[in-house]
Amino acid sequence: MDLGLKGKRALVCASSKGLGLGCARALAEAGVDLVMNARGAEALEAEAQAIRDEFGVQVTTVACDVTTEEGQAQVIEAAGAADILVNNAGGPPPGMWTDWEREDFIKALDANMLTPIALIKALVPGMMERGWGRVVNITSQSVKAPIAVLGLSNSARAGLTGYVAGTARQVAGKGVTINNLLPGIHATDRADALDRGVAEREGLSLEEARAKRAATLPVGRYGTKEEFGAACAFLCSQHAGFIIGQNILLDGGGVNATL
Ligand code: NAP
Repeated sequence: MDLGLKGKRALVCASSKGLGLGCARALAEAGVDLVMNARGAEALEAEAQAIRDEFGVQVTTVACDVTTEEGQAQVIEAAGAADILVNNAGGPPPGMWTDWEREDFIKALDANMLTPIALIKALVPGMMERGWGRVVNITSQSVKAPIAVLGLSNSARAGLTGYVAGTARQVAGKGVTINNLLPGIHATDRADALDRGVAEREGLSLEEARAKRAATLPVGRYGTKEEFGAACAFLCSQHAGFIIGQNILLDGGGVNATL
């Protein structure tokens, strides 16, 4: 399927690894020029060069922490008149509901709610003026079904979800769609970090912890960043203009719910 994206320009935040990288690569394969971002310059530049070599698109890299005001200013400047915005950042640390103080919540809100909102506010007005735009926010299955140890994520992402639900319907008339992709368990560094914690607590090897978690999913395996990226590219495509303010689970059937 031709996604109709050749020559478009996308800012993909937090995209040197994992799900963000999956989105960047799928958009590049569809002919989209990219602004890629991560804090670590080395992995970012290596992945950007691999994308240039493989797909022949233009890639600009911005090595910065996108959750800071300075970082946001840098990616916004590099994005220019971007047609597509993929919001992403690292997820908050796990813990118990009694662990977190105000500062912990502020950090989680900054990273997983207020950063995507700041970038939406900066880039969507231009998209509306030009009559076309796509925003995809990488959130989490924790929006649909809370994950006990990820209370900071449950809270901050629910806030973003509420903002998107209202905002998406106010910008849709100008050709701009805003939707959320909700990853379940995907094989990335983030999943490894969480599995390592479980392995330590339960006296298992990393492989055993992984296999145990994969067995809890109807599909019996972790998702891949390629599958995730393909879904993101479709949401950004010309074919997805009627999908507004939705929360789309990519979870291998992990969330046991009818709707
Ligand atoms: P990952 O494999 O750890 O990759 C994270 C990427 O984001 C890296 O490129 C990292 O590079 C970059 N990054 C992290 N913090 C950043 C920041 N402050 N500014 C700029 N770049 C930043 O993580 P992932 O698994 O792809 O997860 C992506 C998001 O999906 C996270 O919010 C995670 O909580 C959520 N999620 C993941 C899963 C899963 O199973 N993987 C499930 C549900 C939700 P640097 O470290 O160099 O900055």
